[in-house]
Amino acid sequence: MSNFVIQHRYAMPFRKLIVGCVLLAATAQAQQKRPNIVVIFSDDHAQQSISAYGSKLMQTPAIDRLAKEGALFSNSFVTNSICAPSRAVLLTGKYGHKSGLIDNSAGRRFDGSQQQIQKLLAAQGYQTAWIGKWHLQTLPQGFQHWHILPDQGHYYNPDFINMNNDTLRHEGYVSTVITDFSLDWLRQQTAADKPFFLVIGHKATHRTWIPDLQEFGAYDSVQFDLPATFYDGYTGRRAAQEQDMSIKQTMLLDYDLKVNADFDKGWMYRRLNEPQRQQLKKYYSGVTASYEKVKADSNKLTEWKYQRYLKDYLATAKSMDRNIGRVLNYLDSAGLSNETIVVYASDQGFYLGEHGWFDKRFMYEESMRTPLLMRYPKHIQPGTQVPQLVMNMDLAPTLLQLAGVPVPADIQGKSMVPLWQKKSDTNTWRSSLYYHYYEYPEPHRVAPHIGIRTAQYKLIFFYGPFEQWELYDLGSDPSEMKNIAQLPAMATVKASLQQALLQLARDYEDKEAVQLLQKALVTTK
Ligand code: CA
Repeated sequence: MSNFVIQHRYAMPFRKLIVGCVLLAATAQAQQKRPNIVVIFSDDHAQQSISAYGSKLMQTPAIDRLAKEGALFSNSFVTNSICAPSRAVLLTGKYGHKSGLIDNSAGRRFDGSQQQIQKLLAAQGYQTAWIGKWHLQTLPQGFQHWHILPDQGHYYNPDFINMNNDTLRHEGYVSTVITDFSLDWLRQQTAADKPFFLVIGHKATHRTWIPDLQEFGAYDSVQFDLPATFYDGYTGRRAAQEQDMSIKQTMLLDYDLKVNADFDKGWMYRRLNEPQRQQLKKYYSGVTASYEKVKADSNKLTEWKYQRYLKDYLATAKSMDRNIGRVLNYLDSAGLSNETIVVYASDQGFYLGEHGWFDKRFMYEESMRTPLLMRYPKHIQPGTQVPQLVMNMDLAPTLLQLAGVPVPADIQGKSMVPLWQKKSDTNTWRSSLYYHYYEYPEPHRVAPHIGIRTAQYKLIFFYGPFEQWELYDLGSDPSEMKNIAQLPAMATVKASLQQALLQLARDYEDKEAVQLLQKALVTTK
């Protein structure tokens, strides 16, 4: 009897202890199961220069690794092809008219007090950091750690703003220094035993395209073919006629291509150390000499500028790709690759001579598209191709879902998880994309526009300095050279796309666009 009493007396607490232990173990397991996340976010890096996307211009072995070992999103687009607003989309999963950041103009500031992915992840126990190019004017909020370039940053010996708000110069090449700081932070996280979320923000491949010392001249032996649209005359496309972003007119010989650049006193080069200065001087004195041979002939000069632009741009991309490889190698060596989601994306695409251009902004394919690759061995089969129409605003909800964090209803993007799981709800995935570009007139005189892209068509409404509709059949005219908005045979298609565009503007609550479109649909055809 007494035995029974003793057993009984201790049995309940023991059971509670067991249940408690199981719960603790389950909680620990749940936390363990949350994946680490590394987002490598570059600037102005065009799909046309990534070999995983079929580029013939160069090889990008590190980015290609993500395609081989994970998923490549072959139809990946942005909501607005411009730098800072795209970073706001990454953080919020919302269009610019919701995040408040619609353009890069001076005085436009990102409100860091709003809901952002790093805050939602941190609330579930994530360690969060942003290292590198930030470009949102206000300082980061909601990251436990940040270390950012002021504004656009510099390619050599860049300044960084630290969390004490001190701006300090760090010796070295920007992509390497950003990666060094990122690896330092990652090494600390391994010890902390918490899931982490890190954004590595690259300056590359933003203008003015300067590679690391070891990549100078990497493509000097290559003569690049001119894109088929290089000498586009912009017939029937007023915004394209009026832009100021051409290689011929806009690209600067000294600032962009370093012809006769002052490496001793020029403001961009004052921060170089002596070995860097000597190597840049030597390399670009050869460039200046080759310029002297072509400068008298207008077409020869334009094509020379194109060749020089690509050589610098691609070499800069090569320096960045090598550093992306360092991050992947670190994750391997730390045994973290299996449980870490790695994303590679750019803030938008870029023109590499198509339509005679550099820069971005337009809703045309080269700038509206952006690279997007994602590796997560536990969830994504190696070599997965995702063909659906996805957007940069889908990244935040996708990462939240993979992290087991509920996706707030006001996020406008959609989780892409069903797309590689090939679930039945793939059929309900969006069939059209909504786009809104605002920044005008500075710096490149690209008229503001609103548009819709489906698998087959693209309809664009330019507004502001003038109003014009453009319509492209992407099936028969993938390079968007023939504006068929005025073709009588296209009237029905155009009218239906106009209504679909208006509906998208309503669905995404872009009130300014709704008003503009309603007015235009009454007054213009
Ligand atoms: Ca950019």
